[in-house]
Amino acid sequence: MNDKKLKDLLKEQKQPDFRLEQITKDIYQKGIFDFDEITTISKDLRKILNEELSILPFVIKEVVISSDGRAIKALFELEDGNVVESVLISPKPETWSACISSQVGCAMSCEFCATGKLGLGRDLTTDEIVSQAIFWRGYLRENNIVGTYANIVYMGMGEPFMNWDNVKASIDILTNEKLGNFPNRGISVSTSGVVSGIKKFADECGQINLAISLHFATDEKRDKYMPVNKAYNLEALSESLRYYLAKNNRRLFIEYIMLEGVNDSDEDARLLVSYLKSIGKKQLVIVNLIKYNSVDDSFKPSSKKTVMHFKELIKSGGVPCTIRKSIGDDIHGACGQLVGKDKCK
Ligand code: SAH
Ligand code: SF4
Repeated sequence: MNDKKLKDLLKEQKQPDFRLEQITKDIYQKGIFDFDEITTISKDLRKILNEELSILPFVIKEVVISSDGRAIKALFELEDGNVVESVLISPKPETWSACISSQVGCAMSCEFCATGKLGLGRDLTTDEIVSQAIFWRGYLRENNIVGTYANIVYMGMGEPFMNWDNVKASIDILTNEKLGNFPNRGISVSTSGVVSGIKKFADECGQINLAISLHFATDEKRDKYMPVNKAYNLEALSESLRYYLAKNNRRLFIEYIMLEGVNDSDEDARLLVSYLKSIGKKQLVIVNLIKYNSVDDSFKPSSKKTVMHFKELIKSGGVPCTIRKSIGDDIHGACGQLVGKDKCK
């Protein structure tokens, strides 16, 4: 929401100083998107505010719910006509996580990712990022969905570290006690390996979780499938992660998509363990094995058996490893499937 405009309007209407805090609290902490629902202010003021200001900087074009009810995808049309997607996922009963976008499309061109195939549209503004998270808070309330809104993950469309200023500002708003009031530890940012961003993150966001989309443990493969590696190779990445771990004694999440015949052999597991050991503090590093969600015919997901075996190899190398369940792929709301249009119709 445009807080400055709200502040000016309230001043114009000669409202007392506490009014701004009262209204913003309802918007951010209850997820209210219509001034008419803010019943602590007069009808006349509600009418004026509704005429002059819209709380969300986008229109909700569509909301699609997965067959098991554990993933809900929303399509937002921004004021300039661009569209972005955001997903609410329930990884365990009565717990909800919002997966939000930081850019329209993405410039990083990872071969396996649907968003990457779009190229970059533009960066999202701070307000557009924050409003996705606030939208889900309101959605849960309005639909009487039980459970805690526990996590916000920057794993939707876009590379957060290529839009760092706005992403950082959005984190500040979401964690501000008087605004979003989300716990720092419930927020995670995922990067494909933008080293300059990792360093800034280490300096500026000590309490927020960091996830690295590693996927390949050799420069040869990473260069081939993730062009970001040409700018920041594995050694540069490892150095930035050492810096991060030295500054913040926090868990570091390593994302690894399992691609049949590409990165799922015993040798790949060995190389992954050895790379992660080079970062040090291996008790803080945790590998999440991710099922590849189909984007086109270039890749196939590894079989369940291979994934289980790979997990055991990583664990026997002394690195904690989990298999991440894929939620929401029937609504194209799973990782790497967000493209800003609804393919379910
Ligand atoms: N751009 C950031 C954050 C968004 S991507 C990043 O890359 O980290 C969210 C996660 O989905 C990343 O780990 C990404 O590598 C993964 N992903 C991309 N395409 C995928 C696919 N087709 N199947 C499964 N995961 C995918
Ligand atoms: Fe961009 Fe992340 Fe997709 Fe790579 S995986 S193209 S960085 S959104």
